[in-house]
Amino acid sequence: MNLTRSKQLFERAQQLIPGGVNSPVRAFRHVGGIPPFMASAKGAYLYDVDGNRYIDYVNSWGPMILGHAYEPVVRALQEQVPHATSFGAPTELEVLMAEQIIRMVQRLDQVRMVNSGTEACMTAIRLARGYTGKNKIIKFEGCYHGHADSFLVSAGSGVATLDIQQVPGVPAAVAQDTLVAPYNNLQAVDALIEAHPGEIAAIIVEPVAGNMGCVPPLPGFLEGLQQRCKERGIVFILDEVMTGFRIAPGGAQEKFNLDADLITFGKIIGGGLPVGAVGGKKQIMSHLAPAGEVYQAGTLSGNPLAMIAGYTLLRELDLNRHIYESLEQKTQKLADGLNTVFGKAGVVHQIPHVGSMLSVFFTEYPVNDFAAAKAASNELFRQFFHAMLNRGIYLPPSPFESWFVCDALSDADIAQTLQAAEESILEILP
Ligand code: PLP
Repeated sequence: MNLTRSKQLFERAQQLIPGGVNSPVRAFRHVGGIPPFMASAKGAYLYDVDGNRYIDYVNSWGPMILGHAYEPVVRALQEQVPHATSFGAPTELEVLMAEQIIRMVQRLDQVRMVNSGTEACMTAIRLARGYTGKNKIIKFEGCYHGHADSFLVSAGSGVATLDIQQVPGVPAAVAQDTLVAPYNNLQAVDALIEAHPGEIAAIIVEPVAGNMGCVPPLPGFLEGLQQRCKERGIVFILDEVMTGFRIAPGGAQEKFNLDADLITFGKIIGGGLPVGAVGGKKQIMSHLAPAGEVYQAGTLSGNPLAMIAGYTLLRELDLNRHIYESLEQKTQKLADGLNTVFGKAGVVHQIPHVGSMLSVFFTEYPVNDFAAAKAASNELFRQFFHAMLNRGIYLPPSPFESWFVCDALSDADIAQTLQAAEESILEILP
């Protein structure tokens, strides 16, 4: 594969931008090599600056559930641009957006728009602390809730990919208020609650973990967390930045029939533009400024471009709910095909998947937590990643990231992916 121009751009970028990228995992540090610099994308395909085409399983890390440059979103953006890109004043679009979110996600009373998933989770935690008057939070090893100080403790995603044990710059005084339990382990949560009676403001969880690879919740785990929160006045926060509008129209709250106090959103909610949101029970949400005193704000929050892109995508998903079935079928087909390929080659593997999220772990043991995810073979993943990339299949450049299937992915694309997987494995293990 010719990556001449990407290579030149990466060299320039490394002089000008730390590590050459504006978000760490993009730099391919875990897998090595040159990250292709992208020029355009349409449907399930990416095109790089050297003219190579890739079948995309990253999908901008989640937002592109219907594929890239989805026509209704592109049109809506084009129509909006001449009117205004930002007012910093209230708009009808924000009301439409809030109504749309609340229509799709059950048991949500109010929602506040922000500019990223990080902001959404940061706001949710401040709100939980302001509401309860307590400081400590419980999160889970390998879960990622953005890059606010409180969350960079045993975090997944890029922190796991770069294997950073302790993030410099996060004050110890802040980190000590973040208690950590292994994912899928209610006994560990009980132990933390017992060790810190009356001190815990919130439990925040990825309902399907997607930042240590895809790790589904074991039956009873999410329900157990919810029950413990309700019994002890702890705010139960579902981080649906990844799962929201992806694993069901109403996300994990719908899929697992949950009743979270607060839910955070990002990715799909912005239709490809920088958007996040925090929503939840009015009793708690009404503490946000200016209704209450928990301060949160944003110059560009709820701006018309972000709102029209997100609103258009959410409405498409809401009106075409059959898409979710079709996404699951595609994902199942991909998982079945990969199982067959790896099975035939005698490669130990696990392919957990939920909805249109999927991961490949090269290990013989089930992956239910971060320790198990880390125990899988990184070296095999690295080789597989590059063999696939050379064949035009764009996978996340880390085993600690979920793959995403988009609706634009065709049967032929899946067949091509499986063919590439078969060739890749043969090349790695001749
Ligand atoms: N929460 C989860 C579950 C995520 O997957 C991410 C990003 O990957 C975030 C929060 C942070 O979102 P953002 O990157 O938009 O700040």
